[in-house]
Amino acid sequence: MLWWRLLACAPPALDVVVADGPHRHRVPVTVRTDAAQIAWATDGVERGVLEPGEGVLDVAGLAHGVHTLVFSARTTLSRTATVEVPVTLDHEGPAVLLGAVSRRVEQGHTLPVFLSADEPAELRLVFLDRERPLYPVEGGQRALVGVPIRTEPGPHPLVVEAVDALGNTSRWTASVEVEPVDWPFTGKLPLSKKTAEVAQPDVERMRAERDPVYAEDLPEARWDGPATLPVEGTHTSAFGTYREYPDGRRSHHDAEDIARKPGVPVLAAMPGTVRLARMQAVHGNAVLLAHGQGVVSLYSHLQALGVEEGREVARGDTLGLLGSTGRSTGPHLHWGIVVDEVPVDPMQWLTTDFHDAGGYAPMEAAP
Ligand SMILES: [Zn+2]
Repeated sequence: MLWWRLLACAPPALDVVVADGPHRHRVPVTVRTDAAQIAWATDGVERGVLEPGEGVLDVAGLAHGVHTLVFSARTTLSRTATVEVPVTLDHEGPAVLLGAVSRRVEQGHTLPVFLSADEPAELRLVFLDRERPLYPVEGGQRALVGVPIRTEPGPHPLVVEAVDALGNTSRWTASVEVEPVDWPFTGKLPLSKKTAEVAQPDVERMRAERDPVYAEDLPEARWDGPATLPVEGTHTSAFGTYREYPDGRRSHHDAEDIARKPGVPVLAAMPGTVRLARMQAVHGNAVLLAHGQGVVSLYSHLQALGVEEGREVARGDTLGLLGSTGRSTGPHLHWGIVVDEVPVDPMQWLTTDFHDAGGYAPMEAAP
């Protein structure tokens, strides 16, 4: 009889193991006890009861943050055993920061959008009505956005959706200022002027060969620092220079023309892969280099090709010789850079390496 009384007066055995957090709506627990049931409470309020074994606590109604879970087992003689376990509940989506250099851009330029979150997060970026692929960089993620020449100047919303590992979602926004550029005007075009001297099927084939290269998703950035000029010469037609049709429509030059005597080597502006090296309508002998993350550079009107498709090239490797093949009025290199399928000013790439976020600042919560 005596041993029975001693046991009855001792508090019940109780051991509780809580799965590592943070947790969102449910907290898995394992209860070992010789009591029939135990109660659990937080913040001074009893929340429910558990039976021995594996169970789940419903914490969806509790606030985001750290709570102390209190488990208590009780015998019929009112002896109580209590175990306290701290638990972190995560009910909020990630907070997202935007790089300082991502807040203004000129028409026709490349905008690096740097994003950073306060916890591991999957980010979705929408800017200028398109979702933009993001790639990891030191301290965050980056998208390169080609801002079309014709983008309306003024503020444009940049929206980010963030989802953390637990499924909590948040939406953020910031205003990006697109600055107008006073593009050089070089004269009127006759309304009837079409690509008459080039057969339309050839133009279509040229586009069909180029477009998939522009759209390729190569996750690795192959460039390192700013681009180098592919050839020294006279810049005869700058990127963005336009002619105007009688009805007011503008035709902008989507690359930089550099004139020089024929036969001079044309060099790779950045390391990359030769994705196209062949004679094409309009462009003549043309080379397209893929640099990864949506960046492609192009070299047109070459007198001769010096590389084969599929080859890896380093910065400064010879791609071919300067010439006047295709639709060209004299020996020159038509040098272009395309970012995210949009032709951008290649001259910006000579002075910018797009690796520096310039610090991060919070975005605003999106409605
Ligand atoms: Zn050109």
